[in-house]
Amino acid sequence: MKIYRLPEKPKALLFDMDMTLYSHPVYAQSQVDTLLVRLAARYGKTFEEMKGETDVYRSEWAQKHGGETISLSKVILDYGVGMAENIRWREEDYKPELYLKPDPRLRETLERLARSYKLAVVTNNTVSIALRTFGILGTAEFFPCSRIVGLDTLGIPKPHKSLYLKAAEILKTEAASCVSIGDRYDIDLVPSLEAGMGAILVDGVEDVYNLEDSIHGI
Ligand SMILES: [Mg+2]
Repeated sequence: MKIYRLPEKPKALLFDMDMTLYSHPVYAQSQVDTLLVRLAARYGKTFEEMKGETDVYRSEWAQKHGGETISLSKVILDYGVGMAENIRWREEDYKPELYLKPDPRLRETLERLARSYKLAVVTNNTVSIALRTFGILGTAEFFPCSRIVGLDTLGIPKPHKSLYLKAAEILKTEAASCVSIGDRYDIDLVPSLEAGMGAILVDGVEDVYNLEDSIHGI
């Protein structure tokens, strides 16, 4: 865990979902691969060809942008697939039910955090996939539809800071009192720092379990 910035009195915590509120590298990779299968089919290529091509595209993009990481949604967009189709592919093909299971420790953690902070989620996944994910993890009550800013909320992906400003608006909390928590610096933290928020990088859900101590320990 690495704290980049913390407000003096944080009032709201904005969580990334994938690989932040659960740690499951195989499921995370399956999400990338699933979209590449669709992209390959669209362009009449094999999965391996598409993967190789997008890997090169990602690395060239990073070189042009000072080493930053491009999000998968942006890669797909740059390949000419509109956001509506990107959303439909995810909703049809993603299967959190096959990989995830209830996480009572996360639930306890969120129960504690919810006593002191407003909670929301900002994800590059769709709102319906987020709802399914939280249903499986056993944390649905903390993240109802109204507390999720997803890929389909504004129709744009992170790292756009608009998603974070939208979450602050939903929680009726000024940006300077919000803290973004995520596993990817370029995607989750850069836009929130730009929006004037606090930012904490986590290695996965184990760090989220200890988040309260980290925030209070500062
Ligand atoms: Mg993530």
